[in-house]
Amino acid sequence: MRSSVSSIGMGKVESRALRVESGDFLSLPTQSSTLNSERPDGAHGQFTLTFLGTGTSQGVPMIGCDCEVCHSKDSRDQRLRSSIYIQTPECSFVVDTGTDFRSQALQQNVRVVDAVIFTHSHTDHIMGFDDLRRFAYQRGFMPVYAPPETMRDLERVFEFAFKGLNPFPGYLKPEPHVVEQPFDLGSTRITPLPVPHGNTTVNGYLFVRNGRKLVAYLSDCSGVPDDIAREIANVEVLIIDALRHKPHPTHLSVDQAIEVAHRVQPQRTDFTHICHELPQSAESQLPPNTFIAYDGLRLEF
Ligand SMILES: [Zn+2]
Ligand SMILES: [Zn+2]
Ligand SMILES: [Zn+2]
Repeated sequence: MRSSVSSIGMGKVESRALRVESGDFLSLPTQSSTLNSERPDGAHGQFTLTFLGTGTSQGVPMIGCDCEVCHSKDSRDQRLRSSIYIQTPECSFVVDTGTDFRSQALQQNVRVVDAVIFTHSHTDHIMGFDDLRRFAYQRGFMPVYAPPETMRDLERVFEFAFKGLNPFPGYLKPEPHVVEQPFDLGSTRITPLPVPHGNTTVNGYLFVRNGRKLVAYLSDCSGVPDDIAREIANVEVLIIDALRHKPHPTHLSVDQAIEVAHRVQPQRTDFTHICHELPQSAESQLPPNTFIAYDGLRLEF
């Protein structure tokens, strides 16, 4: 397993007795594994983010490609579809369950998923949905947070789950929460960030705890409007789409992502949704505090 730990924001350790700000998460039975002080996943921070995948929709290597990156000896050049996993003392959740979700959960030893948040319904972000059943086996239901159009697509594609058609009692029962405004999971406030992604609008998300703007996650976007840049200004970590150097109609290029970071002024920027034209080694040419994320990279706050 490839994994690395970076320490971010040496802020004081907050009390475990954080108040639950909204009723949303109160409906979840607490899973003792996330509440024990010794968490089986090895996370200790108030907010631990693991990159489950950092690749574009086709992944890297691409099927049948003989380019240098697809044959790279640097294991960080192997990228599953983009997704992040977040652990907090109150609950753990995943952003997107793409095509590779099962492999990612195995690779990163994901043991607990209390909820899932979707950015949009492109196949590289939803097609691992069915594997959520492993995490809902005991309690049955799984809270699903998604923007309205994405929820409609999920209900159509995974109709058997949403309509409860599977007679098996332990089968996944999605509990839909349409995201139109900020919501809370435990003590983490999550604010949707609508951004253009080609001709469509998709959600990024801002994660705030105890007044700290920890992470803005914009995995798929072709631009970041000024009002969104202002909303996430000075975030500790900006995770942003940077497909490759060449421009693309639905994704930001490296230069465009750097320009967004210039407006946002985060403490640190991590690129994601990388294609096979951008090797990990290109990181050395990036501005200070700007990195190319890789599968298994873990950020502790
Ligand atoms: Zn994507
Ligand atoms: Zn290639
Ligand atoms: Zn997309």
